[in-house]
Amino acid sequence: MDPTDVAGEPQYRTLLAVDVSEAKAGQRVRLAGWVARRRDQGGVYFFDLRDSSGLVQVVVDPAEVPAARDLRMEYCISVEGIIRPRPEGMANPDLITGRVELAADDLRVLSKSEPLPFVLDARVEPEERLRLEYRFLDLRRPRMRANLRARSRAAAAMRDTLNDRDFLEVETPTLIRSTPEGARDMLVPSRLRAGSFYALPQSPQLFKQLLMVGGVDRYYQIARCYRDEDFRSDRQLEFTQLDVEGAFWGREGVFDTFEAVVAAVVAELRGSSLVVPFPRMTYADALLRYGTDKPDVRFGMEIRDLGDLFEGTEFRAFSAVLDDGGVVRGFNAGARDLSRSGLDALVDRAKALGARGLVSGAVDPEGSWHSSAAKFLSADEVAGLTAALDGSPGDLLLLVADSARVTAEVLGQLRLDLGKPEGHDDLSFLWVIDFPVFDELEGGHLVPSHHPFTSPVDVKEMRERPREAISKAYDLVLNGSELGSGSVRIHDPEVQREVFEILGISAEEAERRFGWFVKALRYGTPPHAGFAMGIDRLLAILQHETSIRDVIPFPKTQTGTDPMTGSPTEVDPDQLAELGISLSEAAAATDDG
Ligand code: ASP
Repeated sequence: MDPTDVAGEPQYRTLLAVDVSEAKAGQRVRLAGWVARRRDQGGVYFFDLRDSSGLVQVVVDPAEVPAARDLRMEYCISVEGIIRPRPEGMANPDLITGRVELAADDLRVLSKSEPLPFVLDARVEPEERLRLEYRFLDLRRPRMRANLRARSRAAAAMRDTLNDRDFLEVETPTLIRSTPEGARDMLVPSRLRAGSFYALPQSPQLFKQLLMVGGVDRYYQIARCYRDEDFRSDRQLEFTQLDVEGAFWGREGVFDTFEAVVAAVVAELRGSSLVVPFPRMTYADALLRYGTDKPDVRFGMEIRDLGDLFEGTEFRAFSAVLDDGGVVRGFNAGARDLSRSGLDALVDRAKALGARGLVSGAVDPEGSWHSSAAKFLSADEVAGLTAALDGSPGDLLLLVADSARVTAEVLGQLRLDLGKPEGHDDLSFLWVIDFPVFDELEGGHLVPSHHPFTSPVDVKEMRERPREAISKAYDLVLNGSELGSGSVRIHDPEVQREVFEILGISAEEAERRFGWFVKALRYGTPPHAGFAMGIDRLLAILQHETSIRDVIPFPKTQTGTDPMTGSPTEVDPDQLAELGISLSEAAAATDDG
């Protein structure tokens, strides 16, 4: 029987599962989806039918509909029947459709399913590798479906906000010339010019700047970016950014636009409104007070500089560091009653993070300090310390004396270890501003702190004191994660040349590598600024996911492989020959393994 055929085509459904409601009781409808969670009761079969909208319970009597006997998990079916209220006491308050069911009298199996590698609607989470191998099944799970939907709605909210502000969506190429953005390029060999390579874009950076030269006033793109970086838990080889650039524009315009974009996304996914403008903090302040350039400001425990207190101290561990140009800093970890072994674990952690040691102690009821270091400190120093860290009786105070860099790293991490809230219920956005133009590597070599197209605040200062120079770069931080960065760009080719020079890139090398770009700057380039925000990370946080892989439809594993397709794979020797590529013995051996 095929009662619902329309114009010779089968009609698979007349309604989505989630629309089966009490108001429609008595109506005859047809649904299509997958068989989830089946149970047999007194000769009658119950199963949940899952489609893209949700679940509804179906009841069928196999005596009446024999096809029901053969149903297995995840069979794809089309089923017709009458909507009816569930019997008294049988409602399921956890389900939108929990007060009704479909009494089926016709059922067609559209396609069968093999036995499943994991149960889709189970409470226990399947192992991730298996989920990725069977991503097509994993995506049927409600949580993943919600994440896919959130991603689509977030993208729509971004587009709507930017379109309303007259931004133009422009695509830029993915086969490009290698450009320097700090990471390793992914290369694509050219067949027609064997021996030459394209790079996949680390971001559309230079193309969006060229769009500004090209007279595009406001640009955006939801752009895929590729960076061949070592694996870290929250990184993927390819990821997606909302990329934006504007001409005759500066930092304030960028901030205002991204605050609107982010607020629209949060309103769409969380249904809550954000307070804008977001707070701002300088890079120097962030490092001093939070030990990092991406502070989690959902909680206090701010780090304080205590150097002034210990000027002329008798405590060798502090005086030696201070004499050496180092710092003494600490924070108040709040009231906590740590056992001896708890304290030892903290010291071990500090050492593992690179500190020479950790001075810790608890404020006692008299306001003095219960610490093995206390005997080396004067009463004034202890009182000053307690006051500087707002210590109340019972508070644990933690101090590190070391170089500013090590102190920041260690205290910043200990602060997170001890205070970071679980989950992401609260959203604390923060702009970090006034980054340095350059970072100094061991050995004194300078590298761009953002990328080499970032404008310094003061060109003269950059020329004279590059190590201290401040740039017009900014980052957006959410709950301690960097969501994105941007900057006002260099639009003067002469300044661009100077930056390359400070970076140790000779005029010839600059010409060879970026001549094509610098040439464009010479044709009436408008002042411009921009920003790019990582969509994967924003979504993971908004969806309460700990891994960005759970908001990416088809992600790679943490080691860059795809268990579903098996990529990366060896290729046919003929393909390599065509490209003029031969593998070194080492590479061939790795491939074999
Ligand atoms: N292209 C930069 C990045 O991907 C962002 C920007 O400066 O707009 O980090």
